[in-house]
Amino acid sequence: MKKNVRVRFAPSPTGGLHLGGVRTVLYNYLFARHAGGEFVLRIEDTDQTRFVPGAEEYIIKCLEWCGMKPDEGPVSGGPYAPYRQSERKEMYRQYAEQLVKTGHAYYAFDRPEELESMRERFKTLENPSPQYDHKVRLEMRNSCSLTLEETETLLEDGVPHVIRIRMPENETVTFHDMIRGEVSFNTSLVDDKVLLKADGMPTYHLAVVIDDYLMKISHAFRGEEWLPSAPVHVLLWKYLGWEDQMPQWAHLPLILKPDGNGKLSKRDGDRLGFPVFAMNWLDPKSNELTKGFRELGFMPEAFINMLAMLGWNDGTDQEIFSVEELIQRFSIDRVHKGGAKFDFEKAKWFNHEWIKRSDASRLLPDVKQVLADNGLTITDDKLLSSVINLVKDRCTLLTDFHTQTKFFFETPAQDLEPVKGKWNEEKTKFFNAFITYLEGISDFQAAEQEAAFKDLATQHNIKPGELMMPLRLMLVGGKFGPGVFDIAAIIGKNETIHRIQLALQQLSLA
Ligand code: GLU
Repeated sequence: MKKNVRVRFAPSPTGGLHLGGVRTVLYNYLFARHAGGEFVLRIEDTDQTRFVPGAEEYIIKCLEWCGMKPDEGPVSGGPYAPYRQSERKEMYRQYAEQLVKTGHAYYAFDRPEELESMRERFKTLENPSPQYDHKVRLEMRNSCSLTLEETETLLEDGVPHVIRIRMPENETVTFHDMIRGEVSFNTSLVDDKVLLKADGMPTYHLAVVIDDYLMKISHAFRGEEWLPSAPVHVLLWKYLGWEDQMPQWAHLPLILKPDGNGKLSKRDGDRLGFPVFAMNWLDPKSNELTKGFRELGFMPEAFINMLAMLGWNDGTDQEIFSVEELIQRFSIDRVHKGGAKFDFEKAKWFNHEWIKRSDASRLLPDVKQVLADNGLTITDDKLLSSVINLVKDRCTLLTDFHTQTKFFFETPAQDLEPVKGKWNEEKTKFFNAFITYLEGISDFQAAEQEAAFKDLATQHNIKPGELMMPLRLMLVGGKFGPGVFDIAAIIGKNETIHRIQLALQQLSLA
């Protein structure tokens, strides 16, 4: 029977959400929506030593910002609740015990110092940190080396213990990966991983299999770093008797550093000056703030678009995709096998494209926020929308809207240095004449003003080109911005006159 498509994003709440993590969510999400299936959020918080307060809420906020709302999860609930593994603790032990009964797992009573001494005894030059596996298993204190009575006594006495998988020796485990095709492992190379810890919590390896089974997950997409654990998971599906219900796997390629090999890390971002997390993350222990794409001024549409293209394409040259288009076109067989190098300049290109293509109504709330963050409260939406339309082509990041728009709303500090050297009485006369012209008109159109400005320049025997930069510096404060007459038309007659007068005062003092 064909299972309904059900995918999951299963983060451990250990800190900020890395680009690679968001891309994993995205591919899960696109796949689910494409197939009309469900997208589940499951919080894998069984490793209490790595638990970080606030990380789960942060992950949920990131998904919200990206527009990828889970159909089921700790917030929305669902038929397979709870969706936090720590709250499912009691469910796991029975399966671990079942594996012990069928001989696929065993109790291990080794104390930390015994594990340490094993590593000392068995280490060689070729193998400096030996694993707990079939080679050493019988040398250790576990239910394989002890008699049944000894084991029972230890259990009855409540001696702390874990349950480990008994990895078979020299068998080949093969499974089909949707990206890599057939993948095989020799079981002798894999250690006897802990399945249930001494505190009764399952490890990731046990919990992921049980929850994927109980939550009827049909496809499991996760980062490539999990590939070496796949044989453990495949064997657990088999040993628990659920082999025919195992999800289809896809191990997603890594996002690589831009300069060199290996996975892109937060440190690479710090070193090269770009964010690696989706949103700002404040580590509650160290109080260290790690910057995110959102706060830097990325639009979620652009962030998602950029991530989708890091390791996937639809077979054409198209690069700009809305989420709806991505949902329509996405397929796992077009995900690349090799890792994709992250390119921050390209990421910014995507954002610039999205800003240019977005309507003022889409940009309005974000621009308002950027301005508010900089102490500017704008209530006239109509005015702000016209300003946005005038300047959006010049903004690569949403935060650029502050510099590009603030002079529309407040008189700028005028840096007139660039024109001071060539200033003369004629130019002052020209601008005074221009003020008189402005005072006399009521209809304030950019094109008319420009024509009048040029006429007046000719009358004063000055090339209009020599007067444009001064006017720009007067109105904008610097050498940038859209057409000066468009700016004058928006700030209005009185403010235009005011700014010219302010500048003339400064220039006459020079
Ligand atoms: N909890 C694992 C992680 O945070 C999830 C891996 C998986 O999706 O199976 O990477």
